[in-house]
Amino acid sequence: MKYLPSCLLFTYFLGIAPLSAQQFEYSIDDREIVPGIHMLICDAGGYIVTAVASTGPDGLLLVDTGFKQLAPIFRERVESFGLGPPKVIFNTHTHVDHTGCNHLYGEEAIIIAHDTVRTRMRSGRYVLEEYPDEALPDITFTDSLTVHFNGDEIRILAIPGSHDDSDAIVHFRKTGVVFMSDLYYGKSFPTVDGEYGNAATYPQTLDRAMELLPEHVQLIPGHGTYVGTMADLREYRDVLNRTIHIVQKGYKKGKSVEELQQAQVLRDWEQWGDEQAATTDYWIMAVSRSFDQQKFGAKKSLAQPLYYALQEGDARSAIARYYELKQSSPDEYNFTVGGLYNVAFNYLLTKERNEDAIELFLLIIEEFPDTQYLWAIHDTLGELYRKLGHHERAIAHYEQVLELKPGNPNATAMLQELSAETSGE
Ligand SMILES: [Zn+2]
Repeated sequence: MKYLPSCLLFTYFLGIAPLSAQQFEYSIDDREIVPGIHMLICDAGGYIVTAVASTGPDGLLLVDTGFKQLAPIFRERVESFGLGPPKVIFNTHTHVDHTGCNHLYGEEAIIIAHDTVRTRMRSGRYVLEEYPDEALPDITFTDSLTVHFNGDEIRILAIPGSHDDSDAIVHFRKTGVVFMSDLYYGKSFPTVDGEYGNAATYPQTLDRAMELLPEHVQLIPGHGTYVGTMADLREYRDVLNRTIHIVQKGYKKGKSVEELQQAQVLRDWEQWGDEQAATTDYWIMAVSRSFDQQKFGAKKSLAQPLYYALQEGDARSAIARYYELKQSSPDEYNFTVGGLYNVAFNYLLTKERNEDAIELFLLIIEEFPDTQYLWAIHDTLGELYRKLGHHERAIAHYEQVLELKPGNPNATAMLQELSAETSGE
């Protein structure tokens, strides 16, 4: 059983990895791009995030460390190089699917990242991760930095502002390999950080990357398995440019996200959608939202205040805090499904505070009865109630899923299993 709908939902809101942990089969494949430079393809139930390893006489250098649920197999993979722990780790940005195993080697390795990564890891929604000190970057930079390692000149270049505000790419200058991380998704639309990213500026950040890179390089994306060329990257920039303009045209006419999605304004770019990450509907939403941000200014995440409330009390304290903030600071915080979902899914479920998580999911239904992800919330509730042995409640939520998404295969299967279990009792 998987929390797949929830993962998709999570990706939708935050542009980062699914975190439902144990339910997934994890694997890491090693593809050697040129001798000594390995693309590590980390797969969680079809959701792929990549990392890069440089191996050679100086030892091991890593670029990114996947998400924390990979830790056991990430360690195995690192050990398989037979070089001991990494000496240097670069993080290409703050997202949890790129920094998640930092803690494994934080004592031994020097971790290098953009200035913003270090501050972010201790604030906003990242407080939910409870990173230990050793997981934080030791050396930070704002422009670029070069490490001479394994005979290569390895440059990390800051290009923040589109996917996230802490983005960097890593250029192995002698071997001609570039880890583009989340500035490049190969053959699909990118995801964009809901708080610190800006979809509309993707083409400009890609232009900046192209100015800094030579023509003959191999480009490793932060997600997916497609290794691209500069010609691919130019095409990618053009696709983003054209699709952004289409969405912008609709936005300027006052069209809502839903109207643009229903009108299928990006129907000619369907093949650039990815069901596991950024669909065309997602891209329409992300681009529109970035125009909203420009108009209204970005708001604060609910994660931090709710996290502190949950440290001192249970879901009731968090819900009380939520309503307090809604009353006192309606314009300061981002009151969204995603904000609440992040706390319930990424924090409470990871801590196995299932009852508290249920209360927050119920709050989402109460507060956002019209959200298009209502079915996924019911699906998660069905799963949680079943886990806790409340079969009738589980059935009620799965029935809601079917009402909203007739024929939904997971809910149908769950209802069959639940009725078999109930009649067998
Ligand atoms: Zn990312």
